[in-house]
Amino acid sequence: MSNTDRRTPANSVDRDAFRDMARKFAEREIKPRWQQADREAKFPREFYVAAAKAGLIGLHIPESLGGADLGVTEEAISIEEQAKANPNLAIVALIQGVAGSLLAEHGHALHHAMVRENIAGERLLALAVTEPEAGSDVQNLKTTARRDGDDWVLDGIKSFITLGGDCDTMAVLARTDPAKGRHGMHFFAVDRNTPGLETSQIKTYANRPVPTYRVMLNEVRVPESRRLTAGFGAIMEGFNRERVMVAARWLGHMQTALAWAMDYAKVRQQFGKPIGANQSIAFKLAQGHVDVEASRHLTYHAAARWDSGAPVKDIILDVSSAKLFVTQAVYRVTQDALHIGGGWGITEELPAMRMALDALVAPVTVGSYEIQLRVIAKQLGLPCD
Ligand SMILES: Cc1cc2nc3c(=O)[nH]c(=O)nc-3n(C[C@H](O)[C@H](O)[C@H](O)COP(=O)(O)OP(=O)(O)OC[C@H]3O[C@@H](n4cnc5c(N)ncnc54)[C@H](O)[C@@H]3O)c2cc1C
Repeated sequence: MSNTDRRTPANSVDRDAFRDMARKFAEREIKPRWQQADREAKFPREFYVAAAKAGLIGLHIPESLGGADLGVTEEAISIEEQAKANPNLAIVALIQGVAGSLLAEHGHALHHAMVRENIAGERLLALAVTEPEAGSDVQNLKTTARRDGDDWVLDGIKSFITLGGDCDTMAVLARTDPAKGRHGMHFFAVDRNTPGLETSQIKTYANRPVPTYRVMLNEVRVPESRRLTAGFGAIMEGFNRERVMVAARWLGHMQTALAWAMDYAKVRQQFGKPIGANQSIAFKLAQGHVDVEASRHLTYHAAARWDSGAPVKDIILDVSSAKLFVTQAVYRVTQDALHIGGGWGITEELPAMRMALDALVAPVTVGSYEIQLRVIAKQLGLPCD
């Protein structure tokens, strides 16, 4: 799919009712589950099955492949509501969306069957792009795919692959023709149990319910039928969609942190009055309110631009602005909530530290602060490298 012929969503829904449904889903399926998953750093697979049953996987995928053919706006609403309950389990649908899109838009019948299974809750997907030496600089990736008869043989190491050890299939980006640089890359749909593919969990302080993995590819043989028609360009477009979802994720989390801090500031008494009666505390909360409102506008503006079908090149500025602002704002809001919690804030008796820890990952994934600033500067016509 080129920059100019993007599909617009075929269907629409009553967005208030849809938000209500997503909120109820999060209360029913995320709230009772996330703390144990966080403690154990173990993905609860039944959550993915529940999300699929609720119709929240593959929201934007065409109906012909089992999806709902809705827009980025509905996906953002779903992610925002889920993230209010827990920002980590909320990314399950997000990752399925990015990997599922690659298979749907750049695959054939075999991949399309995988997409149908994914939407039905029967095939969990992961996206394997990042490598130990190629994080922000995706073009520098080293994983190779060598043609051998009717097969391809993959070698390399991927890092930080969310759900890499839990998924059934991962979309792996590899160099198929090193001489062609970023134009010589393709994705392959590789099943996790393929001989030569091994995973090991990377222990993290944040994002624990949806773990990340190192994926070692050692002479992993897959047939040509597993190759997608797309590579680097497709994932850059996918990242731009994902950035809107990431903004929605942190918008949801920010609201929960702010609501908690507001309540705490009203009930916690010192010097005979609520701590929120002090300007220095009240101003933090007032700033938090503005951060939430500004984040909401930027996120849904970027989502609406995406749904308009405008060429990706014309909406990059809106997308990166939303991603940058929201990920900075969630940092401010959660750090302020932690501060308002005082000494109790860093205990396990209050949620402030957990919320602040989770928000630390906000600026990193799908293009860091600096990468968004670089994109924005270039969009503004600055000769910035
Ligand atoms: C929890 C988590 C989940 C993830 N899930 C996935 C996944 O499912 N699939 C996947 O493929 N990847 C995933 N990633 C990887 C993620 O996209 C990378 O971590 C990210 O791209 C940054 O790469 P890096 O960590 O190697 O940092 P680096 O690229 O090494 O960056 C380090 C620092 O240098 C800065 N920097 C880099 N380049 C520049 C520059 N040109 N100018 C100024 N500053 C610069 C960065 O902003 C950053 O502050 C995940 C990461 C995390 C933490």
